[in-house]
Amino acid sequence: MTLATLTFSAEITSLMASFGVDEKALKGGTLAVRSPINGETIANVAEISTDETRKAIDAAHKAFLEWRLVPAPQRGELIRLLGEELRAAKIELGRLVSIEVGKITSEGLGEVQEMIDICDFAVGLSRQLYGLTIATERAEHRMMETWHPLGVTGIISAFNFPVAVWSWNAALALVCGNPTVWKPSEKTPLTAIATQAIFEKALKRYIAQGGKAPANLSTLLIGGRDIGEILVDHPKVPLISATGSTAMGRTVGPRVAARFGRSILELGGNNAAIVGPSADLDLTLRGVAFAAMGTAGQRCTTLRRLFVHESVYDTLVPRLIKAYGSVTIGNPLEAGNLIGPLIDKGAFDRMQHALDAARSAGGKVHGGDRVHGEAASSAYYARPALVEMPEQVGPVIDETFAPILYVIKYSDFDQALALNNDVPQGLSSSIFTNDIREAEAFVSDRGSDCGIANVNIGPSGAEIGGAFGGEKETGGGRESGSDAWKAYMRRQTNTVNYGRTLPLAQGVKFDI
Ligand code: NAD
Repeated sequence: MTLATLTFSAEITSLMASFGVDEKALKGGTLAVRSPINGETIANVAEISTDETRKAIDAAHKAFLEWRLVPAPQRGELIRLLGEELRAAKIELGRLVSIEVGKITSEGLGEVQEMIDICDFAVGLSRQLYGLTIATERAEHRMMETWHPLGVTGIISAFNFPVAVWSWNAALALVCGNPTVWKPSEKTPLTAIATQAIFEKALKRYIAQGGKAPANLSTLLIGGRDIGEILVDHPKVPLISATGSTAMGRTVGPRVAARFGRSILELGGNNAAIVGPSADLDLTLRGVAFAAMGTAGQRCTTLRRLFVHESVYDTLVPRLIKAYGSVTIGNPLEAGNLIGPLIDKGAFDRMQHALDAARSAGGKVHGGDRVHGEAASSAYYARPALVEMPEQVGPVIDETFAPILYVIKYSDFDQALALNNDVPQGLSSSIFTNDIREAEAFVSDRGSDCGIANVNIGPSGAEIGGAFGGEKETGGGRESGSDAWKAYMRRQTNTVNYGRTLPLAQGVKFDI
């Protein structure tokens, strides 16, 4: 089927039915949902009111008072079942991600696989919420550190990972003893509704096998920024995990801090890679192509800046330009296409604006034009753009959420390292090199200032296990792996006196 004749309405109804979502939930609502693949309106879903939102948060807080008492390994059992349900629904949910966001099939499926992986991680974690025992100076005393559930976890997510980001947060929050309240992107409510239905299936099985769980353990708020703001300001939500643009974080961060709440901010990136003189150029070409063009440049970790050593510039860059010219762009559901659409017209316009600014700053633009505009006039497909820039100025400093790769020639490693770090964002970074000094320096104290720094792989993507997040205007939050779980819990230091005297610390005397 061509883009012009493609229609999704019937498929959406049957996909949603496979998750247990009634057709009625897709019709008559105030929020129109469109597929970026062909611009078709595929559903009109209901939005929650501000009053209902406040009530839902209060109800989630009540759920917290019970859920925190369920032993963590039992909470882990619910997440184990969620992982099973996600495995069973992987193909359908992956397809829905592709239709709602425009990801190619393997990336839609990959997003669901990431949800499954975090469930596996969280199940193991549910038996490893370890504290410490600490040496004390007082005789017959014991000092220890314990971790307790924190309270309702508010999750705000972006359109480009519409469901994985929920799972990164929810799987950890729930094993840590916290109910979740989720405000997904207003551009991707269908995948959120499907995910909530999959969660309900897991919950039903958990309760049927004797598991204890309160009502309102997982709440979904479909709505816009105003609904997100209620979550952000609510005193019964001690933790807000917000993923999206730096502009959003600039508002959300101070509002949460003003009420002494905690936040995990996962914001924009402006990720770079350095290609050293010794780099394996075949590997580099593939690494750069996927990181810069994959997901149509709509990943927070997308490669946006490339610093190429002058000795390999004339070999690598023409090969890259050729790859940019020949990459397959089109319906992401069709095998063979590697680049799908941009999310909407706004994204396409911002891409063109950045390219114009790059031209004005002396950049030489290859690609970047609209394709398939005639076949699908309400969809926005763009040829990825490679821009040779004389220096790091103008739009190179900003994150434009589209497939634009700025390429800059360098002569000295320290100069390239300084350029890597000389932007406001600090999410992900890479170096392609076979020089061990360069590689080690890049990941050293004086190296990349990003939350993620890779060697001989691109900066794009993440794997469950490592902590994910970045520095500076990326927000400083860490999610998913390593000890990210600690952000979802309350740390307590306990000193227990099992003797019959009362020695005071630091030798203080207070005899009455
Ligand atoms: P966005 O900032 O427009 O929206 C993100 C979410 O925030 C949406 O749910 C939106 O409704 C909500 N929101 C916006 N303003 C708010 C406010 N004042 N209060 C409460 N909620 C508010 O982002 P987007 O266009 O959906 O996503 C793209 C951006 O997200 C890019 O900048 C990308 O780099 C970033 N992103 C970051 C990560 C990461 O882990 N660092 C991951 C994915 C996306």
